[in-house]
Amino acid sequence: MTAEVIVDIARSEVDRIFEYTAIDGVTAGCRVRVPFGGRTVDGYVMRLKEGSDCPPERLKPILSVVDEALTPECLALVRSISERYHCPQALTLRLFLPAEMRRGTVRELTRSVVYPVAGADIPARAKSQAAAYAYLLEAGSAPLAALAARFGRSAASALVERGAARVQKERVERSPYTSVGEGAGAAHALTPAQQRAVSAIEGSSKTVQLLHGVTGSGKTEVYLTLIARALQEGRTALFLVPEISLTPQMLRQLRERFGSRAAILHSGLSAGEKFDEWWRLRTGEASIAVGARSAVFAPLENIGVIVLDEEHDGSYRSETAPRYETAAIARLRAAYNGCKLVLGSATPSVETYRRAQTGEYDLVELPERINRRPLPDIAIADMRREVRRGNDSPFSALLREELEDCLARGNQAILFLNRRGYAQSVICRECGYVAKCEQCDVSLTYHSEENCLKCHYCGAAYKMLTACPECGGTHLSYAGTGTQKVVGALQKLYPQARILRMDADTTAGKEGHLRILRQFAAHEADILVGTQMVAKGHDFPSVTLVGILDADMSLHFSDYRSGERTFQLITQVAGRSGRAEEAGKVVLQTYDPENYILRFAVNYDYAGFYKHEIALRKATAFPPFATIVRVMATGEEEAKVAEVLKAVYRALEEVYRRDQSKFLFFNKMKAPVKRIQNKFRYQVLMRITDEGLLPLIYERALACRTRDVLVYVEENPASLS
Ligand code: ADP
Ligand code: ZN
Repeated sequence: MTAEVIVDIARSEVDRIFEYTAIDGVTAGCRVRVPFGGRTVDGYVMRLKEGSDCPPERLKPILSVVDEALTPECLALVRSISERYHCPQALTLRLFLPAEMRRGTVRELTRSVVYPVAGADIPARAKSQAAAYAYLLEAGSAPLAALAARFGRSAASALVERGAARVQKERVERSPYTSVGEGAGAAHALTPAQQRAVSAIEGSSKTVQLLHGVTGSGKTEVYLTLIARALQEGRTALFLVPEISLTPQMLRQLRERFGSRAAILHSGLSAGEKFDEWWRLRTGEASIAVGARSAVFAPLENIGVIVLDEEHDGSYRSETAPRYETAAIARLRAAYNGCKLVLGSATPSVETYRRAQTGEYDLVELPERINRRPLPDIAIADMRREVRRGNDSPFSALLREELEDCLARGNQAILFLNRRGYAQSVICRECGYVAKCEQCDVSLTYHSEENCLKCHYCGAAYKMLTACPECGGTHLSYAGTGTQKVVGALQKLYPQARILRMDADTTAGKEGHLRILRQFAAHEADILVGTQMVAKGHDFPSVTLVGILDADMSLHFSDYRSGERTFQLITQVAGRSGRAEEAGKVVLQTYDPENYILRFAVNYDYAGFYKHEIALRKATAFPPFATIVRVMATGEEEAKVAEVLKAVYRALEEVYRRDQSKFLFFNKMKAPVKRIQNKFRYQVLMRITDEGLLPLIYERALACRTRDVLVYVEENPASLS
């Protein structure tokens, strides 16, 4: 037998599969020790086969078996993900393994189990020992870690020392435990609406369920109920959230409800801790994996439910190879395990909602907040009028009035600034005009180095404007106000107010976020000023006012999804207001008060928004009615990059010529941002109507890679800059 082995996968230059002669005990999924380049390294057996393409005298034997690190599901997924994204298996495998493991830290897939020795005599004064012994007799055996946790480490070891118990290293049985009921967190009694949602999901014949529930409708409780039921059935659960370190409430709830059965894989953990959590899952000691994007690869077996919360969130898309969509991987896993995938959101992405409309997914709705608490009122402040009145501050008269009222009552407020990237659109502050591409109907982006406006979808460049073509006004703005400036202006207006700022500058490291959120939650500040980060899932009961300072900024972002993103952001941010007894308010400042997206958002009309948006996508042939594909070539030497891109273009042109009717757009150009971190960027941009072309596009494009020039393919990229 020959074993296909991926070796020493921390080094990218050995990103391929090597063959070795299998020895006894080697199965697919084993971690093994193999000779490699004069050293002995770890490798992973991907497959066993008869025969080999190598001459037999060149095949070396595997030296030994370390453990069984990979599940059968992992092996299957590595293969299909590699095929789907045309990515080497070695690279894909990395997704499934904690970084520590790749450095060769040897850990066996065993644990210590304690057995009682019958008839031992424990002195009565050794209370914990006696209790532990009684427990062992009753239970038959217990993992050493569990016994030590319950009765103390010294009691456990004393029992062994006096011969009352013996410890045995055992290969871990992966039969999941069923001890549901541990943990102090009491579940809420489900409301009838939540109960209906749980039943609908469990009773559905479809794999994917879209749980569309307004903010504060109690989606979390639905997730936790589904997870608890999976555990009761002896299965495991996977719970994905966009950014776990930003949701301390969620963490607390999970810990309270599920205790140590939940392994939490978040970026705040040290490498060693991550490694330990990974093994707890792999051995079945923990059976709920909670985490962000990368947790979708958690080493669970027999998964009973997968939950993907805030499914619309952009962080679920990987920006490095393989450029996967978390939901796509989750679907593969749900299919493999025969379980449900629940996608939850108050503002589902247009693509996802369409799949629910066409019957590919089931749609489950929670249309009301818990206890019928009203959603906060959203009032629009017309900033054009403020400018005309001579108010040049970032705050409208209405917002100031509401702020004063809020502070006078001793409540808290959140002021939200819309900043994503620094690409800026041009907006006339007097009439609200926004510069758009004549062909593509998306906003143009200002590029200061060339002093021009560019369309990111067709590459067209336009001269800079000096006056508004609509009203002749000269109050054109490119950059909005920064958080720092807002805090300064705010402090001047309200010298007594305690203000916290949360943005990329104030939150070095993940702990930074937590510290600010904790301070705000403890009411150590009255106003929190922040960017996107403040929008996510927080539950601050004293917040009764939310101000959205520049609702337009994402509306005019040069992206076909800007309408969708704006709707999502407004809904999410507004959802932070009035979550407890007192009703909440929202002031939304805009230069474009008639805009349909804002109208739908103000009325919490997701259905109306969707209907309008999907019609627009259809008319303009944007996703989900077409796929935008970008092939990017990057490297340090511009001439080489340009040459590789030419080759890419020629290779793809053949595909294009043969199937022109399936292409809405096909062109090569410099990327709008030509250089990032010293790397030149050239691209071929396509919009296609048939996804069936993708494998060919990947194959042709990736074949053009060279040593110095990286080529990669992006599908519907999050940004085209
Ligand atoms: P969502 O995730 O839909 O925005 P949450 O899950 O955060 O909503 O729930 C909103 C609030 O309602 C939370 O404070 C939560 O504790 C509370 N809640 C949820 N379910 C129930 C219930 N069945 N009974 C009482 N309170 C509930
Ligand atoms: Zn264009």
